[in-house]
Amino acid sequence: MAIEHYYDLIVVGGGPAGSSAAYEASKNGIKVALVEREEVIAQTVRTSGVTWMQNIKEFGIPDDCYNPIRNYSFCSPNNEVTISDTVPHAAVLDVRKTYRWLAEQARKEGADIFLKTNINNVIKNDVGDIVGVSGTNKEGEIIFHAKVVIDASGFPSTISKAMGFVTQWERFGVGAEYEVKAENVDQETWWLMVGQKYSPAGYAWIFPVGKNIVRIGVGIGKPESKIDPTERLKELMDSKMGPISKLGKITPIEFHYGLIPNDGLSRKTVYNNLILVGDSAGQANPLVLEGIRYAIRFGRVAGKIASHAIKAGCTDEASLYPYEENWRSEIQSKIKSAGKVQDRWIKLSDEEWDRELDIIKELRPEEFLDFIKADFGLANMLKLATYHPKLAVRQLFNLVSGWKKQKGNLQIK
Ligand SMILES: Cc1cc2nc3c(=O)[nH]c(=O)nc-3n(C[C@H](O)[C@H](O)[C@H](O)COP(=O)(O)OP(=O)(O)OC[C@H]3O[C@@H](n4cnc5c(N)ncnc54)[C@H](O)[C@@H]3O)c2cc1C
Repeated sequence: MAIEHYYDLIVVGGGPAGSSAAYEASKNGIKVALVEREEVIAQTVRTSGVTWMQNIKEFGIPDDCYNPIRNYSFCSPNNEVTISDTVPHAAVLDVRKTYRWLAEQARKEGADIFLKTNINNVIKNDVGDIVGVSGTNKEGEIIFHAKVVIDASGFPSTISKAMGFVTQWERFGVGAEYEVKAENVDQETWWLMVGQKYSPAGYAWIFPVGKNIVRIGVGIGKPESKIDPTERLKELMDSKMGPISKLGKITPIEFHYGLIPNDGLSRKTVYNNLILVGDSAGQANPLVLEGIRYAIRFGRVAGKIASHAIKAGCTDEASLYPYEENWRSEIQSKIKSAGKVQDRWIKLSDEEWDRELDIIKELRPEEFLDFIKADFGLANMLKLATYHPKLAVRQLFNLVSGWKKQKGNLQIK
C-alpha cells in the first residue's frame, strides 16, 4: 500500500533551486516537503560551481563554502590574456557544502526533506491540473498531495514532462570534469580555454577550489558538436594541453558529468498549481552556461509566490504568474543578448579566437565580468562605449545587435 502525505507545497529536486524554494516557502509559514532522489543532498556533483561574490553575499552563503577568484585568464590556441582585479568578484563553490547548506536552511525553517525518494509521476484532478506527485522510496510507493508543486528537478524536468507540458531540451551543453589534486595551483586564478582543440562548441576550464584542488573540465554544445566531452577531457589532460601543463603532477579525485539546457528562455514556467524553476525552466546564462545564482534567486521567488498563493487560497496560473514576470523582467533580455554572443562564439575559428582575445585584453576587470555574466544592461553598455569609444560596442558588443536596435538612441560608429 502506498504511503500518502499531505502538504501545502511539494518541491521536487534538492538542488539549489529546490532547496531555495523550500526555504522561502517554509519561512512564509506553509507546510513544505522537499523531495530528492539521491541518498544525500548533492551526492552527485554535476556542476563546476563558479559563481559571483555579489550573489554569494546576497544569498548569505557562508565563507567556508567557496574559494574566491580575482584573476581571469583566457587562452586560445595562440593567444593568452589575464585580467587581474584587486579584489575577488568571482568564486568557485564547494558544491556539496553549499547545496547542503541551502537544504539545511530549508529544514531549519520547517521543510520536511525526503531523501532516496524518486518521483516519477503526477497526480491530476478531474480537470487535468496537478494536485500531487508520486514515486518510490525504500518502503515502496509514496504519494504526496499538494496545493502547489514546484518542478526543481533540473535538466530532466520530470514533473513538467509527466504533465505533458515540455519535451526534452533540443539544445544543451554537456560537461565532463575531473576534480584533481595538482602540484602547482594559483588558487586565485581561473582559466577559460577556447578554440577547436579545447572544445569545438564550448570551452574548457580550470577552476581552483582551494587547497591545491582544481576542477579541469570541458563543455560541449549539442547538437552543434558530436564530440564526447569525457574523451576530449581525457585527451587534454593526457597531453597536458595549454595551462593544464602549469599544474604539474595531477591526481584525479572525482569525476563530474552533467547536462545543462541551452534553449534560451523558451519555456512557460507557470501553470495551474505548478511552477518550473532553475534548470527545469532553462534559467541559465548561455555564455558560460552558469545557472546556480538564477536557481537560488528564482527558487526563492518561486517559494515566496507559491506560499503567498497558497495562503490566499488561489493557486491558478494567474496567481502564480508574478513569479514568471519577476524572472523574465530580470533576465530575459540579458539572456537573449548573451545567446547572440554565444552563437557567434560557437562559430569562431581558432584565428578568430586569437583576435577575440586581443579585444578582451582591453577590458577592465569589471567590464570583463559584466560581459561574462551576461550583464548587458544599458548602464554597463554606456560605460563601455565611454571607455572604449572605438573598440567596445563596435567589435565585441555589436554582437548584441538586437539590443542596439531596441535602444536606437545609442549609435555606435
Ligand atoms: C558540467 C556543468 C558545469 C556547470 N558549471 C556551472 C558553473 O560553474 N556555475 C554555475 O552557476 N552553473 C553551472 N552549471 C549549471 C548549474 O549546475 C545548474 O544551472 C544548476 O545546478 C541548476 O540547479 P537546479 O536546482 O535547477 O538543478 P540541479 O542542480 O540539477 O538539481 C536538481 C535536483 O533534482 C533531483 N531530481 C531530479 N529528478 C528527480 C526526481 N524525479 N525525483 C526526485 N529528485 C529528482 C536531482 O537529483 C538533483 O538533486 C553547470 C552545469 C554543468 C552540466
